Amino acid sequence: MINVFQPSLGADELQAVREVFDSNWLGHGPRTAAFEEEFAAHLGVPADRLTFINSATAGLFLATELLGLGPDDDVVMPSISFVAAANAVASTGARIVFCDVDPRTLNPRVEDVQSALTPRTKAVLVLHYGGHPGDIAAIAQLCQDRGVLLVEDAACAVASQAGDRACGTFGDMGMWSFDSMKVLVTGDGGMLYVRDEETARRARRLAYHGLEQSSGFAAARVSHRWWELNVRDFGRRVVGNDVTAAIGRVQLRKLPEVIARRRAITEMYDRLLDDSEGIRLPPRLPEGHTSSYYFYWIQVDPRIRDQVAADLLNRGIYTTFRYPPLHRVPAYRGAVDLPATAEASEATLLLPLHQGLDDSEVRVVVDELRKSVEHRQCSTG
Ligand SMILES: *Cc1c(COP(=O)(O)O)cnc(C)c1O
Repeated sequence: MINVFQPSLGADELQAVREVFDSNWLGHGPRTAAFEEEFAAHLGVPADRLTFINSATAGLFLATELLGLGPDDDVVMPSISFVAAANAVASTGARIVFCDVDPRTLNPRVEDVQSALTPRTKAVLVLHYGGHPGDIAAIAQLCQDRGVLLVEDAACAVASQAGDRACGTFGDMGMWSFDSMKVLVTGDGGMLYVRDEETARRARRLAYHGLEQSSGFAAARVSHRWWELNVRDFGRRVVGNDVTAAIGRVQLRKLPEVIARRRAITEMYDRLLDDSEGIRLPPRLPEGHTSSYYFYWIQVDPRIRDQVAADLLNRGIYTTFRYPPLHRVPAYRGAVDLPATAEASEATLLLPLHQGLDDSEVRVVVDELRKSVEHRQCSTG
């Protein structure tokens, strides 16, 4: 089976985990602090703005809490978002206003966000589809002009930049996912960025029972009445740990290699599929943008999309579509009309893209895809 996504962990990650076992310190400690520092350097932000957490979903819930969202607030987000983003907003009682996207990039355009703003809009929550930065700089400017907070679900954008700025750092908060199908994998894990220093400190407390966190061995050193609790907030327990941080540090070191391979596969698809009838390629990255190459997506006639996916599955090639529009799922169904979202979600198919794919597998995917599209198009007429 050729998987659509797949992690790549090996001897180096295993060795790092062995060292954690040998150290006998498994919880969040020195490796967590080191991972936060290294990831901060990777993003170009101060390390004290980051908290290593156990998922991007936890980061989304923390963010909506830190924003102080409530029933009087609106939050604008694309309907093509991961469900956790909507769940986090809904949990606060705030109202979600879904916006449309560009039908080719599946990212919201600045005008999509703008037309969804209401007098009650407190925040905008966007993602970077497939790792492409999209209109993030313009959206950040719009939010600033309107006095609206901006959260970036940068789960897919671990190495994405618009200009010299990392995706996830354009707004007030951002979060990355290190779950097992992402580009940088720790098993489960995530990073939360909070721009404001004081709010970042609160984020760290909220991630750990509301306790003032002093990490690792420092906390184990006996001080006066060290067993007392210093609780200032009602917190959760969503921190990462030194096992996952140790894996993350190795994966972060390998990230440039991984991105280079994903980019090469993307370029190979672009080249081999270029003249294929009935197959639309993903839009090129604008000048100055870099991607994490998380998704490679094509678009075909909506009438054959699912048949093509079934044909490929029969040939041992797994494809999928992310993210099915939320305004169509029961919990978030609404009367809103989003034509480009509807169009894109019926036509788009994600092809296998991960660093474990070799060139011959990419060729197999391309051959089978072309065959299927040709065959299905004939029978559709
Ligand atoms: C994977 C993903 C998430 C969730 O990340 P977890 O770490 O699994 O909680 C959120 N948003 C987007 C866009 C994702 O792709």
